[in-house]
Amino acid sequence: MSKKNQSKAETYSFFSCIEKNFDKAARYIPIKKGLLEQIKACNAVYRMHFPIKIGKEIQVIEAYRVQHSHHKLPCKGGIRYSIKVNQDEVMTLAALMTYKCAIVDVPFGGAKGGIKIDPQIISVENIEKITRRYTSELIKKNFIGPGIDVPAPDYGTGEREMSWIFDTFLSLTHGEVDAIACVTGKPVSQGGVRGRKEATGLGVFYGIRELCKMKEEMLSVGLDVGLNGKKVIIQGLGNVGYHAAKFFHEAGAIIVALAEREGAIYNKKGLNVSNVILHLKNTGSILNFPESKNIEDTEKALELECDLLIPAALENVIHKYNANRIKAKIIGEAANGPVTPEADDILGKKGVIIVPDIYLNAGGVTVSYFEWLKNLSHVRYGRMEKRFSENMNTELLQVIENSCRKKIPIEEKKMILRGPREIDLVRSGLEDTMINGFHKIRDLKKSLKIENLRTAAFVLAINKIIDSYEKLGIFP
Ligand code: GLU
Repeated sequence: MSKKNQSKAETYSFFSCIEKNFDKAARYIPIKKGLLEQIKACNAVYRMHFPIKIGKEIQVIEAYRVQHSHHKLPCKGGIRYSIKVNQDEVMTLAALMTYKCAIVDVPFGGAKGGIKIDPQIISVENIEKITRRYTSELIKKNFIGPGIDVPAPDYGTGEREMSWIFDTFLSLTHGEVDAIACVTGKPVSQGGVRGRKEATGLGVFYGIRELCKMKEEMLSVGLDVGLNGKKVIIQGLGNVGYHAAKFFHEAGAIIVALAEREGAIYNKKGLNVSNVILHLKNTGSILNFPESKNIEDTEKALELECDLLIPAALENVIHKYNANRIKAKIIGEAANGPVTPEADDILGKKGVIIVPDIYLNAGGVTVSYFEWLKNLSHVRYGRMEKRFSENMNTELLQVIENSCRKKIPIEEKKMILRGPREIDLVRSGLEDTMINGFHKIRDLKKSLKIENLRTAAFVLAINKIIDSYEKLGIFP
């Protein structure tokens, strides 16, 4: 964002953006205002300060954990490490988690954590110290546990931080048989589930692929059905953006531009994502990638000609100052809150389809749910049925071969015989969740004649939360 726009955005309350979206949806929900107010409010905000010795200096670290809703337990949501972390941001992200979980039928309340540090300029040893101290603060206040609140990765964190959290929890809580389920996004060697790392990016891909199958929607934006040949711009090459880019590329879409903090690269014929990542690893930047044009002002990349724009970094990157210049016909919100409400209105009037964050980036928490279930059951997915399925398939093929008096070629046989592995089950669970979620939102949009997918997604989420409060007998 340019300096002028940045200073305007700084005074902007992110939480009020979500409230605006919520209020638009509330018009479609005939229940008393007070009940909606309860759903909207953040239930608990834990703001902490703790000292960490860095070199010879003592530094005071500011950190948060917000539990937005307890209508289902545990609460669930990532932990973000960024110098921009503040209470308003963490509250908003926690609220988004509540709606996200409701949409994809993941039985958690929403939460989010944040530590105000720049992990790029702090040593690994100090990041570990800060992570472990943060975890012990959460334990002290009962803000973490397999049935209480289960953190996960977010912007600036990953498997490494999750394994420190797990280890700290394990060493400070004794005899907790389900301790391993206190955090998700762990390395597979420490109880993580296969497929978690790429889950958010793959979910984004499944969601957009489903939209692109819809004739009516594609006609409305003047595009052909299917992903093949669609021009895509991706902003942010972190875990989410990188995996989304990879899956779109593999499905035949053309990645015309990739944008990072330091600038963007553009090639209208398409960029090879794996080669860009190699270049990034070798040089520390995506800029100067062979056969591509550098774009110094990374924000300008959002305004280039394309069919699909995927903001996969931070919030508020599409705002009232640049919305009119966006040329994409579809925006897929891989990041949380990348489009401000004002930009949403401007783009809506232009006919742009926006696939909202509370649905589109729910793949991460969906697979976190699978990991949590795996941890609570203490058994790897596929362990019970893999061999059984293979034996059944072998017998079935034998019968077919005998009755047809024909041998099935060995390569085809191998494919048919294979029993499901953990990664197969996780991916099919994720695919099914994203496809179902899309159609529930789309059907609701049509049946209630709702103006856009975002409002329809909020209506779906709020109705689900009301249902669970009613089941608890809290709302008479
Ligand atoms: N941080 C991710 C999100 O914003 C994942 C949360 C989780 O897996 O609990 O959805």
